[in-house]
Amino acid sequence: MIVMKFGGSSLANADKIRTVIDLVRRELDRYPAVVVSAHGGTTDKLLFAARAALSGKVDVSAVEKFHLDLARSLGVDPSPIAPMIEQLSKILQGVSLVDELSPRTLDHIMSFGERLSAMMVASAMNAAGLPATSLNSFEIGLRTDSHHGHASPLSDIDADIAAAVRAARGVAVITGFLGRDPKGNITTLGRSGSDFSASIVGAALQATEIQIWTDVNGVMTADPSIDSRAENLPVLSFTEASELAYYGAEVLHPSTLVPALRKGIPVRVLNTTKPQDPGTLIVHSPVLTQRMAKSVVYKEDVVLIHIASPRLMSAARLLSSSIERLATHGVGVHLAATSEATVSMVTDRSYSPEVLESVLEDLGRLGNVTAETGKAIVCVVGAEMQGKAGTAGRILATLGDAGITARMISQSASEINIALVIDGTEISRAVCALHGLLLCNRE
Ligand code: ADP
Ligand code: ASP
Ligand code: MG
Repeated sequence: MIVMKFGGSSLANADKIRTVIDLVRRELDRYPAVVVSAHGGTTDKLLFAARAALSGKVDVSAVEKFHLDLARSLGVDPSPIAPMIEQLSKILQGVSLVDELSPRTLDHIMSFGERLSAMMVASAMNAAGLPATSLNSFEIGLRTDSHHGHASPLSDIDADIAAAVRAARGVAVITGFLGRDPKGNITTLGRSGSDFSASIVGAALQATEIQIWTDVNGVMTADPSIDSRAENLPVLSFTEASELAYYGAEVLHPSTLVPALRKGIPVRVLNTTKPQDPGTLIVHSPVLTQRMAKSVVYKEDVVLIHIASPRLMSAARLLSSSIERLATHGVGVHLAATSEATVSMVTDRSYSPEVLESVLEDLGRLGNVTAETGKAIVCVVGAEMQGKAGTAGRILATLGDAGITARMISQSASEINIALVIDGTEISRAVCALHGLLLCNRE
């Protein structure tokens, strides 16, 4: 079997969905299981509706209209849409009445995007003569922990998922992004989490390949929406791809490679608008290019936190205590640096403002805390950098020539990435400058 995951951009309208159906039909002899995101823009619409409910305005019309119009354009039965929209509306009314939007409720609200999409895509397949069944991942055993907004799958879920997918009539069209926690609540795997779902399902099925279908030519040397010179990367290692995803390459959710790597399943990132192109194949061992590195990525909206110890605590204890405190709030650290009396750490803003506030309050018990928001990480990734002296110097000089000062720099022991913290307003200039360095630089 193979897994084919289609992102929101590839499911944004009826024509794109017809293309997706053709792509699935072409692969029928490899027994595809399909994982879908919400139709492009839907998750953002649901988030907007949830926040509006909190300020007293319950309005499902944008979500309802989009799905009814889509069903009409696809020529499928629209009747399953109404009950789902009614459920959504009731939950939003609840939010409005109690004036509270918990992460648990937000996950429930966002789940409607993928549920509507799986239902719509399976109906469109059936209407096109391709037998299909929609499956809610949270009903077929995709169990997770209770970290609403960024849940992780539990172990021992493979057998249930595989049994349900294999028992489905025709092509299984499975909701991405969603799971269920031990209390029975719907959880989400983090924004862009359907990539991760595809890999979880692929690992459960022992698939021979996991295909991530998107709107660009695979993983590229830079985000093509920032620098149009970006080129396709034909091959990446699991480690390189994980680093790229971790440091912001939106094309893959950061955890996507974990289940695939566990089962040694190759992952291919492909373009729905150019299906004949080979895309990017992600495999076990790195393949070196003639360039200095493979890609430059960025992560927007990170926070740089400094904790100055009142000299009572060693830098090592200050660092471990700070990371421990962040972990108790479920907040991860992307980069860290220490000096004798200060620890600096970078975290992102995917957590709610309330979480960040309580993290800062908690860290304040360890020392003097300052937080700088509106920062960004740019990161150069590639196994080519291993054992090469002078790479960091060239990167810093390139940024310097572009008038950009790095506030913090970090290179992991694996030497396949160099990450720098810059001001958020400098992302485009930094990416273009470093990308220019990669493109012109042949070792
Ligand atoms: P989908 O809807 O298929 O999940 P996403 O929007 O999540 O697609 O991811 C695809 C987008 O990722 C592209 O449109 C591109 O702008 C962005 N992107 C960022 N960095 C990269 C990169 N290094 N290679 C390719 N795409 C990238
Ligand atoms: N629909 C979710 C999002 O927009 C998950 C995904 O698209 O992968 O983040
Ligand atoms: Mg995505």
